[in-house]
Order: sequence, then C-alpha cells, then structure tokens
Amino acid sequence: MSAASPVEPVSRESSTLQPDSYCSFFCPRQNADRCYPFVPTGGPAIARPAKSTFNGVLMSFKQFQLHPTINKNIAAQGYTTPTPIQEQAITPVLAGQDVLGLAQTGTGKTAAFVLPMLQRLLSGPRRTLRALIVAPTRELAEQIHENVINLAQGTSLRSVVVYGGVGKQPQIKGIRAGAEIVVACPGRLLDILTEKDITLKGIETLVLDEADHMFDKGFLPDIRRIVRQLPKDRQSLVFSATMPREIRRLADEILIDPCVLQVNHTAPAPTISHALIRIAKAEKTQLLRKLLAEREMKSTVVFTRTKHKARSLARQLEKSGFPAVSLQGNLSQQQRRRAMDGFRDGTFRVLVATDIAARGIDVSGVSHVINYDVPDTAETYTHRTGRTGRAHNHGQAITFADNDDRQIITRIERNLGKKMELEQAGELPAPAARIAPAPRGQGNSRNSNNPARSAAKPAQGRSKSSQASRRPSRGKGRASRAASFDFGVGASAK
Ligand code: AMP
Repeated sequence: MSAASPVEPVSRESSTLQPDSYCSFFCPRQNADRCYPFVPTGGPAIARPAKSTFNGVLMSFKQFQLHPTINKNIAAQGYTTPTPIQEQAITPVLAGQDVLGLAQTGTGKTAAFVLPMLQRLLSGPRRTLRALIVAPTRELAEQIHENVINLAQGTSLRSVVVYGGVGKQPQIKGIRAGAEIVVACPGRLLDILTEKDITLKGIETLVLDEADHMFDKGFLPDIRRIVRQLPKDRQSLVFSATMPREIRRLADEILIDPCVLQVNHTAPAPTISHALIRIAKAEKTQLLRKLLAEREMKSTVVFTRTKHKARSLARQLEKSGFPAVSLQGNLSQQQRRRAMDGFRDGTFRVLVATDIAARGIDVSGVSHVINYDVPDTAETYTHRTGRTGRAHNHGQAITFADNDDRQIITRIERNLGKKMELEQAGELPAPAARIAPAPRGQGNSRNSNNPARSAAKPAQGRSKSSQASRRPSRGKGRASRAASFDFGVGASAK
C-alpha cells in the first residue's frame, strides 16, 4: 500500500490505539486491557484508519484523482471536502480492496463507496451489470440510486433500482437495457434473478449497505443466496453502523483481507446536540405541540414506537395546524413517496415516523429529531438522531422520557459518552378541545415562577374537570411522579 493511502496496516504489537478507542460491543477483545479494531478471523492484516485530518487540514477531493466528470458532479452536489468516511474509504476502494466500513447513515458513506465505484466502472465493459448495491429498505435503495445518478451524470453509466411493492417489469427492462449498476433490496432481486437472461456473473463490486439492518430484517439468508450467485473474484464492501456477531460472521464469509474503517461507529455525529425532557406519557403530545409552536423547528422528524401512533400523531398535529405527515409501514409505496417528497420540499414541516420506515431516510436540512417514544436501543438512538446534523450541518435531538425509560437513557448516555442536556418541559398548553383556560391566579402562573417545579408538575395549571378526564392514564400521584422523575442521569452536560 502506498504511503499516501489513508489506511495503514498495523500489527497488534505496534498498534498505538488506546484501549477504548475501538473497544465496544463489536470488538472480540472487549475486556482486554489493550484493544484493537475488529478484524474478521482469517484476515492477516489489521487495518486501522489513519488519523482523520477532518478537524485539522481539510482534505480535498482532488487528491483522489477522480475523473474530471466525477469531480464536476461532486462540486455540483456542493461537496467541497470529503467527510471522514470518504477520506478513509475512497483510496482503498479505488485500489480494489475489500472494505468493512463501520459508519452510519449521515456520515457521507454513500458517496464514500459510490465515487470510487464509478471511477472503476469508467474503464471496462459497458451495458452489462457490473456493480451490485444491496440495501435493506426501499427508501435507502431509492436514495442510493439517486446518489448514483447524481454522481454519475455525464458518464453514461446507468443505474437501476430494484425493490418490491411496485411492478417488476420496468426494473427487468432497465437491467436488460444495459444498466451497469443495480441498487436492490434482497427479496425482489432474488425474484428477478429467476429470469433466465438476468445474471450476476459479471458483478465486479458488491456493496452491502446497512448490513446490521439487513440482519434485523431477517435478510441474511437472502444475502447469502445472492452472494452465491456472484463471481468469487470480486470486490466486496460491507457497511454497517453496528457490528453484531451475525454481521461479523457475514463479513468474515464475504470479505477478503478487508480494510476496516470506522467513523464514530455508535456515537452520533458531533454536529448533533442532545436534550432530554422528562415528561409523563399522557403529556407528550402537548409538549410536542408546544415545542413546535415555540421553537424554530423548520424540519422535524418525530419518532414513535408504533405505526398506529405515528399515524394518529401526524393527524393530531395536522389538526392543530402543523403541516405533518406520517411515514410508517402501512403505507403504500405511493403514499410513502408522497410523504417523503412532501417533507423534502417543505410541504410538511413534520414527519412522524417509525424506526423501520425511517431507516436510511436522507433529507438534508432536518433541523430536529424528536424521540416522542424513547428508542429501544442505543443503536436505534444513533440511527434516529442521524437524520439530523447531517454532513456538516448542526442538528438537535430532543428525547421525551419518563421514569420507565431510565435504563435505556443511561445506556444511550453511556454510548454518547456524556449526559444529555436536561431541559424543562415548562408549562404545557391544555389540550384545546378539552380544557378551558385556567382562571387567573391558579396553577399556571405559580408554576412559571419555578422552573424546577414546573418540570416536575408540568400540567398543574389544568382545570379540575380536565384533570379528572385524564385520571386513568396517570397511574402515579403528582408527588410520586415528581420524585420518580429523578433518573439518576439528569445532570446537565453543560
Ligand atoms: P449519507 O451518509 O451517504 O446518507 O450522506 C448524508 C448526507 O451528506 C447526504 O445528504 C449527502 O448528500 C451529504 N454528503 C455526502 N458527502 C458530503 C460531503 N463531502 N460534503 C457535504 N455533504 C456531503
């Protein structure tokens, strides 16, 4: 490998990595006092990313010596400097090496593999399938496909996107017409591969994107079926935000002597600030309305745990005058597209989404992510919050939590390496249809003078009748709830 390469092979002995710099759930030496980056077993070289120059002297795309047409497209996308994963991945991919990239969506990883892939495709045969990118969701497949189209402008390289839920004939036609690149979800790809004249025998580069999500969705058997149809002599790139054992095993099977590259594999991007608001379940919608009304939240993704909640919350917000739409698994492809397009073009200011539906969505300029329901895992938190603070923009994540969420909040904070900033819910507006304004001198004004109290007693300004109507959802009394709101994690990061 040349000295200019951003990836240096290192031996375990010579590694200068600090124990915790890589050590995490994906590391085979988790409890060792010295730790090294994960290498699939059998890979002789231990590769580690060279020091990123991202925060110092910024690199330029010029150093990669890409074709002028590709450079023009990079500029047209508004990319001026490579992101850290691009810094690390482009050179080895250009050199034909296998890569295991630990990076989440939002780090610029799509261009990290698409740019060198396009450069390599510029030489060699045309009008035959040569590159296969496999993605776990239709949304992600569409986005990658769009990225490919944008970055391949003027090269005459063609891309086809293949996923279920829409007619397969146009997809088959696209491949037959001579696309060099196919971006596919596994199920539909296997379906299409039953066509006699469609084969993966000419594939030179395989990319598995969001491999951990493929595992979550039960796609690994399909992936193995696909890989068996590929030529052995190929380049393989696997990207994953996390590295569960199953993905480690898959990487082991697929990759040969990979460069292992890593960008903040579990910690969300540093461009995101993280706030925590303690709030009772029954009061979350009021709090959300209040935040949307009071803060400059231009473009906001709100995450709920269930499809039903995503749909009903979007409707409630719409009724309250906030242009909102839901993105959840029960939507048809057309409805999903309408939701995404509407959110992208600003028709909808709020996108209320479930995790599965929102995985991989890439909308530039998302200013806020709100965890209306706390995610189940720290990794999901990373994925959700990765919808904002993308590339070099700043974003804010706000998490609503109550005492039941204490454990997961602790795990998320451990993963973040810091406490979230604790914010006060403050006074909440009464649900308009059900509650008359509190009489002067009662409740609200008292709370507003005491932020600590108002956080612990967020809805004291309600009228008696409204409180009675909400009693069933409350469970604990005010005093006990105020006490139980102490997560033991509440100190501000400030
Ligand atoms: P990804 O992680 O591939 O989903 O990319 C996240 C976002 O970053 C997308 O909107 C990309 O267009 C954008 N992006 C990718 N590379 C760069 C770059 N070098 N500079 C600025 N934005 C970028």
